[in-house]
Amino acid sequence: MTTTVRRDGDAVVVDGHKKWVTAAHYADLLVIVGRYEDGAVAVVVPADTPGVRIERIADPLGCRAAGHADVHLDGVRLPADSVLGGHGLPPALLVTTALAYGRMSVAWGCVGILRACLAAATAHAAGREQFGRPLAEHQLVAGHLADLYTAEQVAARVCEHASRCWDEGSPDQVVATVLAKHVAATQAAKGAATAVQVLASAGSRDGHAVARAYRDAKLMEIIEGSNELCRLMLAQHALSATGAP
Ligand SMILES: Cc1cc2nc3c(=O)[nH]c(=O)nc-3n(C[C@H](O)[C@H](O)[C@H](O)COP(=O)(O)OP(=O)(O)OC[C@H]3O[C@@H](n4cnc5c(N)ncnc54)[C@H](O)[C@@H]3O)c2cc1C
Repeated sequence: MTTTVRRDGDAVVVDGHKKWVTAAHYADLLVIVGRYEDGAVAVVVPADTPGVRIERIADPLGCRAAGHADVHLDGVRLPADSVLGGHGLPPALLVTTALAYGRMSVAWGCVGILRACLAAATAHAAGREQFGRPLAEHQLVAGHLADLYTAEQVAARVCEHASRCWDEGSPDQVVATVLAKHVAATQAAKGAATAVQVLASAGSRDGHAVARAYRDAKLMEIIEGSNELCRLMLAQHALSATGAP
């Protein structure tokens, strides 16, 4: 994290650049996390403050209604009470706390992607005939449906586990959320590709539900902790949970 927040009399000054901020194109208020003294803070920045420049991402691969934008912050001066509570927290703790909400919503969103793909793929495979039989009666296509069902069930179960951990205030809630996000995103990316395969040309139009799922699901493997970062966190957890030296 390279964005900085520094105190200047009664004000704070924010400098930096944020990439691909979801909804920034539409937002009136931005929540910016930056380095502050030895820790990190979150600051509320009105989008029309002098020094803020918002540049919409043109033609994103997926999530096209999400209004992603790059946010440039050059000497943005704000009243000191724009800093949200908990300032000076260790950056890892602040970011993990904020990301946990995003990770949970991405994880369940991936279950939604898989359910939409499963509904489209089963309806198509049951309704379309090829070589004198419904597609679903060709075993290789039936195998795709089984894989898609499995992906939806696996993603839903791991999300339910994470939600239960949250409801119970379990100490495992952070790792359970990372696990849910990672599993659901990878299953959604795989499952959406399977759904396009089952629908073939019928699902290959821009705007079809499975085509959209295919584009959106890929981005789920990048946001709120990429696959690689999730795997690193899970490996760290595995090492500490097993007490490895
Ligand atoms: C749809 C979408 C929405 C987003 N919304 C937001 C938002 O609201 N707010 C926000 O702040 N950001 C947002 N982002 C940005 C997102 O957080 C970053 O794209 C993501 O963290 C990856 O950073 P990067 O794109 O710079 O890739 P890079 O950091 O250049 O990474 C490239 C590849 O290398 C891997 N990699 C990088 N570092 C390591 C490492 N240390 N170990 C192992 N692998 C590594 C990455 O996982 C990736 O596969 C969004 C991005 C997308 C695509």
